[in-house]
Amino acid sequence: MADMKSIFDLSNDVLSEILKRTIENSVYDFMQIRETCKIFYEAAKDEYIFATMSLHNYGCMPWKIEAKKLLEKALMANNPQALYREGMLKCFCHVNYDVDRGVRLLRAMSDRGVTEATYALGLQLICIESRASEGYRVLQDLDAIYFEEGFDVITRCRRVTSRMIADIWTTSQLEPLKRVYCPCIDDPDRCSYCFWNYEAEYLADLLERRNYGPLPIS
Ligand SMILES: [Zn+2]
Repeated sequence: MADMKSIFDLSNDVLSEILKRTIENSVYDFMQIRETCKIFYEAAKDEYIFATMSLHNYGCMPWKIEAKKLLEKALMANNPQALYREGMLKCFCHVNYDVDRGVRLLRAMSDRGVTEATYALGLQLICIESRASEGYRVLQDLDAIYFEEGFDVITRCRRVTSRMIADIWTTSQLEPLKRVYCPCIDDPDRCSYCFWNYEAEYLADLLERRNYGPLPIS
């Protein structure tokens, strides 16, 4: 095995991975490490970092300029989590509101396996009269994941959604449709239709509450 003497012996792939893990935790650490030497400075330009990095430590509407720039770069690199965040803004932010674009983005990310995008997409669609049946079909996909993985998947979707909405200053409103009679007699534990309607009411309430103050982050 060849002797590893210095940072100059590391391959570009390894350098990119180091930078990716750094920026996932802190954009400021990334900026610092990038300035330490030319080799890191050059490696930090690798689009792979922005296309594949996890954005779990970042919301959808950061206040700090550095985080904002990072999200823009990730968006340009087609990072699925950045595109999900953009979809959330288009659907639920009053200032960025463009529900058709938001739905398209959330659908594309749902197709790429971002479960939280499936959740937001389905709930948004079942609140639009002309697209409600499309929304229930989307949510059937989530039902299938839920039956396989358990309720944790719903808890995670709620937590991530809440985290995104907490970031939005002025939210748009969601108006769940009037519910039709259901033979389950309102039993959301056993009925997908009633469950998702309650979930849409929960999301509508979250959006409403955000306009009156900060949301607790869980
Ligand atoms: Zn029911």
